[in-house]
Amino acid sequence: MRGKVAIVTGSTSGIGLGMAEAFVAAGAHVMLNGFGDPGEIEKIERRLSAQGARVSYNGADMTKPAEIDALVEATRKELGPIDVLVNNAGVQHVAAIEDFPAAKWDRIIAINLTSAFHTIHATIKEMKDRKSGRIINIASAHGLVASPFKSAYVAAKHGIVGLTKAVALEAAQSGVTCNAICPGYVHTPLVDGQIEDQARARGISEEEVVKTVILAAQPTKQFITVEQIASLAVYLCSDAAAQITGAALSIDGGWVAE
Ligand code: NAD
Repeated sequence: MRGKVAIVTGSTSGIGLGMAEAFVAAGAHVMLNGFGDPGEIEKIERRLSAQGARVSYNGADMTKPAEIDALVEATRKELGPIDVLVNNAGVQHVAAIEDFPAAKWDRIIAINLTSAFHTIHATIKEMKDRKSGRIINIASAHGLVASPFKSAYVAAKHGIVGLTKAVALEAAQSGVTCNAICPGYVHTPLVDGQIEDQARARGISEEEVVKTVILAAQPTKQFITVEQIASLAVYLCSDAAAQITGAALSIDGGWVAE
C-alpha cells in the first residue's frame, strides 16, 4: 500500500483504528475519522505520523451527508486522490423490536448503511477515472444471518452487503473492487456495550452473556482479533486481490457455516 491514500471511517477505536494502524504499517497515508477525546485522537495521529505516513483527522459525523462530503474533500486536499475507502463506522443497539426506539433505528441505518452510500457516491467517480481503487465495507456476520434483538443492525448490515454487490458490478470493468468483510465477535468497545445491553435484555449476568450468547455463536469459541481483520483489509487492497469483488468475506470462527 506504499503511497496509497486511505479513508477509514470510525478509526478512532476498535477495528477501524486497527485497520488505520495496519495501513500505515503497509506504507499508506490515512485520513482518520470518528468520535473521541481530542487529546487521545491527537496521540493516535502523532503515533501514526511518527512512522513516516501523512495522517490527518476529520471529525465528520456519519449521520450528516454534508460533513461526509467535506471529509472526502479534506482528504483530497490534505493527502491526495483517494485510493482506498473503508466504511467502518458503526453503532449498535440491542432491544426487542416492540421496545426499539425509532430514533435508534434511524441512527443505526444512517451510520451503518447510508453513510457508505454517501462516501462511495463522493469517491467512486475519481477511482473509476483513475482505473484503480479499493472499497471495503465492514459488514458483519449479521450481514448474512440474523440474531434476535438487533433488528436495525441486522437490516443495516444485510443492506451493506447488498450495496457492496451493486457497487462491485457497476465498477467491475474499471479496476475498482468493492467487498464486504463480515466479522464475527471482536472484543472492542462496541461489543463491551452489547454485553451490558444483552445482559439487561435477557436478565442474565455479563459473564453468562459472553459464554452463552456471544461466543456461543462462534464454533471456535474465540473472539476474532482486530489484527486478523486488518490483515484481511490490507490483502484486499493488494494487487493479488484484484479479482475479488462483490464478495462478502466471513471472518467469524465458523459462525455462518452452522
Ligand atoms: P467501536 O465502537 O470500537 O468503533 C466504532 C467507531 O465508529 C468509533 O471510531 C466511533 O467514534 C465511530 N463512530 C460512531 N458513530 C459515528 C458517527 N456518527 N460518525 C463518525 N464516526 C462514528 O466499534 P468496532 O467494534 O470497532 O466496530 C467497527 C465496525 O465493525 C462497525 O461497523 C461494526 O458494526 C463492525 N463489526 C464489529 C464487530 C465486533 O464484534 N466488534 C463484529 C462485526 C462487525
